[in-house]
Amino acid sequence: MQMINAVTPLEEARAILANSYDLRFTKSVQRATAKIYDQVKDQVPEVEWPFFAPLISQINTLKREKDAVILAHNYQTPQIYHGVADIVGDSLQLAIEAGRVKQSVIVQCGVHFMAETSKLLNPDKTVLIPDSRAGCSLASSITPEDVLAMRAQYPGAPVVTYVNTSAAVKAVSDVCCTSSNALDIVEAVKGDTVIMIPDQYLAQNTAKKTKKKIVTWAGACEVHETFTAADIAELRLSYPGAKIIAHPECPPEVIDVVDFSGSTAGMINWVKTKKPPKVVMVTECSMSDNVASESPGVSFLRGCNICPHMKRINLENILWSLHTTTEEVTIDAKIAAPARAAVQAMIDMSSKGD
Ligand code: SF4
Repeated sequence: MQMINAVTPLEEARAILANSYDLRFTKSVQRATAKIYDQVKDQVPEVEWPFFAPLISQINTLKREKDAVILAHNYQTPQIYHGVADIVGDSLQLAIEAGRVKQSVIVQCGVHFMAETSKLLNPDKTVLIPDSRAGCSLASSITPEDVLAMRAQYPGAPVVTYVNTSAAVKAVSDVCCTSSNALDIVEAVKGDTVIMIPDQYLAQNTAKKTKKKIVTWAGACEVHETFTAADIAELRLSYPGAKIIAHPECPPEVIDVVDFSGSTAGMINWVKTKKPPKVVMVTECSMSDNVASESPGVSFLRGCNICPHMKRINLENILWSLHTTTEEVTIDAKIAAPARAAVQAMIDMSSKGD
């Protein structure tokens, strides 16, 4: 059975939404969404717009009525990123912005650990995720018990935990990091040996830039771990002259042969600053779709994978989430306090570096 989220069958939810909202592609919807369509027209086929536009229009009305703000990760589809999101960014940007929003409801368009991070930083707000099944191969690779076992093996070594983890894992960590600030955090913590979990590739790529000994875990992002140096060589043959940039969740053999490596925000900034005539973003596919409309004159060539977890979020379940105020993210208070401290420690260290 197809589900709109973890609990509601698709047909049932669609019938309720159709009875509650006018989801026809009327002239007034077309006019109201014309500017948005202009931004996404190269990524969203014209034939699909009559389906997306009424949902975008209703979501934007409903979020104001419900005092909600929509946070969207860079890997969300263009119709979400440009159509309904109030704040977009990578994990670090979203974590920082989540702590600053004024609205009483946060709708997190991203995966579950991101919604948990927003809840940690906004314990008094209602945090919703349109589909709580939106997981992450990194987050599911490690448990708090695993972290405690590593602490026992390397007594005194600080634990630097990638934000792509559950709140329970963050709760047994000293400080979090993202792909934007991983090196800065490793350099800032005390000690010559650092436990950096759970992404083995982010850890290996960071280890190449520091004198500290990095101990890691065998986790990996299922989207980035499949890229190889041979893929990059093939891309160079297929697209002569194109710049190739990659996310540091890719294996070191990939990072060694690309023109630039950085977080999603780092890659976006690089493209906007360098303005290469042709670029391949070796990461999740929506990244180049989203940045393409903001980078005229840059030709984006394909060399990407899709994250099935990020793609669980869509306009229908965002509208459903606002309509029903579900699925609410909650975190046990005993876990929330130490997990919040680890996230806050990262934000404090990151602001010092700015
Ligand atoms: S792209 Fe990778 S790290 Fe990001 S949510 Fe998907 S599986 Fe997790």
